Amino acid sequence: MAHIYDTKNKRLMIDTTTALELVLLHGSVNTNVLEVDLKDGLDYVLAQDVISEIDMPPFRQSAMDGYALHMGDDATYTLVGEVKAGDNNNPTLQKGKAVRIFTGAPVPITANTVVMQEKVTVEGTKITIEEPLKENTNIRPQGEQIKLGGVAINKGTTIKGVHIGFLASLGVTKITVCKKPSIAIIVTGNELKSAGTKLSYGEIYESNGAMLTAVLNELGYQNTSVITIKDDYGKTKKVLNDTIGKHDLVIVTGGVSVGDYDFVGKAFDEIGVEQVFYKVKQKPGKPLYFGKKEGASIFGLPGNPAAALSCFYIYVYPLLKKYEGAEHTSLPSISLPLLSDYSVKGTQAQFLKARIEAAGVTILGGQGSAMVRAFGDANALVCLPVNSTEIKKGQIVKTILLPFK
Ligand code: AMP
Ligand code: MG
Repeated sequence: MAHIYDTKNKRLMIDTTTALELVLLHGSVNTNVLEVDLKDGLDYVLAQDVISEIDMPPFRQSAMDGYALHMGDDATYTLVGEVKAGDNNNPTLQKGKAVRIFTGAPVPITANTVVMQEKVTVEGTKITIEEPLKENTNIRPQGEQIKLGGVAINKGTTIKGVHIGFLASLGVTKITVCKKPSIAIIVTGNELKSAGTKLSYGEIYESNGAMLTAVLNELGYQNTSVITIKDDYGKTKKVLNDTIGKHDLVIVTGGVSVGDYDFVGKAFDEIGVEQVFYKVKQKPGKPLYFGKKEGASIFGLPGNPAAALSCFYIYVYPLLKKYEGAEHTSLPSISLPLLSDYSVKGTQAQFLKARIEAAGVTILGGQGSAMVRAFGDANALVCLPVNSTEIKKGQIVKTILLPFK
């Protein structure tokens, strides 16, 4: 089977930037769209711009409880009526006249300013304004947020609650979105036991399946399934063969390294998965495999849970977003000063669980590939380039923002 990058030779191990570029270049892309009710649109990527069919606000709207005035020459005005939210009356105000008005109510066309009630003294039908007036104060102009025909939300946006709120305010009921991928997670290892059963000596509880399912769910990918397989070459081949082709994305964890019982790489080769790369100059997650077959993208992530999760955020997440046609694929990153010295172990690029504080970012303890606990405290990953050595407090580091923190 042809390898796009023959990284069996260790010297050809690729760097993290190339790895991500190759994922985005070779990863499968969705072409199907569907129309969903706005209320069901959460976490989908918009397939088309949403165009507003109304001005928002639809009329000149009072931003305050107070008085709408037709500005006159002195500070005293005569009250001639009232407009509250939802009213559709539009009293005509002569110069020097006012109406009582409330937040959200339509400002009479003949009024040219609104004064907040705290600045007004009321005596019967006379009001006196206690401060100098300016035209168009406390009035939200018609179409201030968006005009009829304007683009409310751009194609490629991942729909979040706030977008649903904004589109609801425009009266939108349906949106056209990109199909989400169907995802299979395959976890491998003789040592893996399900939670709820008793561990025998040498066994551990399986956690990558539960973790990746939950992390995918958090991101809005519900269409997932988990399959567990033993370290058995024949079974590994069969399960991989049966699974690839039924899913858009297959994520395998474990068994992809160089141990005698790591059968995943060999099985990929045997069943005709086209290898895009295998092994990346990074820590954690050196044994990272990416390949493709029959329209499916296939990741072999490290078995160690923290390494698997780092690789998920750095490589799998961008591909999910690319698949759906999202405008932004990678998680956002910012440059921040490091809050304490850090001495780097190894020469590979590093992705370190970290916590952003007000003044900068702290690299957390517990960076081991198996140690997922620090991820619970982390809200970011600090990225250090290859051959980093002693990083000093105050040095600026690239920091990837993790979702939901
Ligand atoms: P492997 O990549 O298969 O050599 O696994 C590396 C380490 O990750 C080993 O200590 C495995 O026991 C552990 N591991 C592999 N798969 C899982 C999993 N699904 N859940 C928890 N730990 C795992
Ligand atoms: Mg294993």
